Amino acid sequence: MPLPAATTVRGFIRRWVLGRHVLPFIPALLLAGVWLGGEFVLILGALVFPALYAMFGEPPNSEDRQMSVRDGVTGLPLRAVLIEALDSVFTKAPRSGKTTIAFAIAIDDFSEIEGRLGLHATEDVLRRVGERIAMVLRGTDIVARIDGAVFGAAFGPVQRADLESALQVAARLQEAVREPILVDGARVHVTCSVGFCLGARAPRPTGEAVLAAAIEALTEARASGAGAIRAYSASKPRDTARRAELETEVLSALESGQIRPWFQPQVSTDTGTISGFEALARWEHPERGVLGPKDFIPTITAAGQIGRLGEVMLFHGLTALRSWDRAGLAVPSLGVNFSPEELRNPRLAERLAWELDRFDLTPERLTVEILETVVADPGDDTITRTIAALAKLGCRIDLDDFGTGHASLAALKRFSVGRIKIDRSFVINVDEDRQQQNLVAGILSLAERLGVETLAEGVERVGEHAMLSQLGCGHVQGFGIARPMPFEDTIGWIKRHGDRVTNATEVTRKAV
Ligand code: C2E
Ligand code: MG
Ligand code: MG
Repeated sequence: MPLPAATTVRGFIRRWVLGRHVLPFIPALLLAGVWLGGEFVLILGALVFPALYAMFGEPPNSEDRQMSVRDGVTGLPLRAVLIEALDSVFTKAPRSGKTTIAFAIAIDDFSEIEGRLGLHATEDVLRRVGERIAMVLRGTDIVARIDGAVFGAAFGPVQRADLESALQVAARLQEAVREPILVDGARVHVTCSVGFCLGARAPRPTGEAVLAAAIEALTEARASGAGAIRAYSASKPRDTARRAELETEVLSALESGQIRPWFQPQVSTDTGTISGFEALARWEHPERGVLGPKDFIPTITAAGQIGRLGEVMLFHGLTALRSWDRAGLAVPSLGVNFSPEELRNPRLAERLAWELDRFDLTPERLTVEILETVVADPGDDTITRTIAALAKLGCRIDLDDFGTGHASLAALKRFSVGRIKIDRSFVINVDEDRQQQNLVAGILSLAERLGVETLAEGVERVGEHAMLSQLGCGHVQGFGIARPMPFEDTIGWIKRHGDRVTNATEVTRKAV
């Protein structure tokens, strides 16, 4: 397409009259003008050159200016230049109909790389990563070093800047960075996380705003682990704010005692007596009432405070055991749920031993409940070791939600599981549904052969209770026996339950 004449003239004047290579000759040209044409030429020259600069001089965001603001290590332009380039796309957008995408790219675990390689080699890594990012992008795009291990990039004005193209480029950037980098003869492997913001999704149509949004997406990507890609979404800041608010509320509830265990009894199908209680976390919320774990455990876990919940549950749980003992009520053991995060703590067994000793309780009074899904994952050695240490200490090990996690028989033995808790999904309608009966019977015979005790979870109806007992399940727990209750209610319940069991035994004895 031929360029318009005005553009050609402007280009000619910029290059041949105002270009940098012409500037050194201006004094000589003026001198020659004075010599040939007198003062008139001098005055003309003094007026014409400034006028030409005013009309055709370089625009403020010229390439020259961009070149002058560069990073000393990578040679890339800096943040301000990237923002200017993005700004210029937004300014021209109403006329050009073109848009852009801003990217923020960070080398993962950079401080670790820096510590390992030293400053000099790290600079090489930064340079190479910068080059690779630039290679993935086109000549019209711009790459900058934002700070530290963070690079920024933006599409030059384009017609199409949708999610798909952004994801494709982000993946290509990661691929390019992942190629081993040769530093002083050694191969260094680095990965990067990418956040981006589509021009159309920017909170405001400015370079500053779209880059800040891409960096926010990058922060989120980095939080999800190395090598992630995240897109900026306008609804996220609100989510983040709400999450932060909830986190503060939950953590202060944990410290102020609003979150504490409620207790659900477990009874023997054989004798009807109490075989234990399970401690289940409850939040006694001043406005929203009593909340269950699904309303707050994810927030506590995300805040990295699940260990703190474990401490609170254990303290109140052991206190309850001591109180039942003092009241002369027989509660053989208390089940406490342990999350995978807690089981990854290599000092857990040591801490539990210390706590039990402090409360003057023997280890078998504490039953450690571990989800079957956790045991089924053979990859985590720390968990295996912690569970072995807990079993060695003498705590009982219950495998929770059994039937949902595909644990191998070898795993049951390896983890010294004392009892399996058959998941509620097998228990529902076990008295009426033949298939359920077959499944439960299968689990029970397997447990018997392995010498492992059994408990059925979520027993709601008398019929279910009776069938489980008939099939040979050792213990039951569920709303049909009692719902979880605060400690204050347990003493009355245990006494009433004791009376019921005694009466039932007497009725049976008289009938015989
Ligand atoms: P879980 O350990 O399998 O606990 C049994 C869940 O079944 C409890 O739910 C209990 O209230 C509920 N349940 C008991 N009987 C019945 C019944 O007859 N019918 C029905 N439909 N449900 C019944 P909850 O308290 O909501 O706890 C859910 C899960 O949260 C627990 O499952 C456990 O995995 C976890 N959890 C509870 N407290 C803690 C805790 O302190 N720490 C950790 N890490 N996890 C906990
Ligand atoms: Mg449990
Ligand atoms: Mg369970």
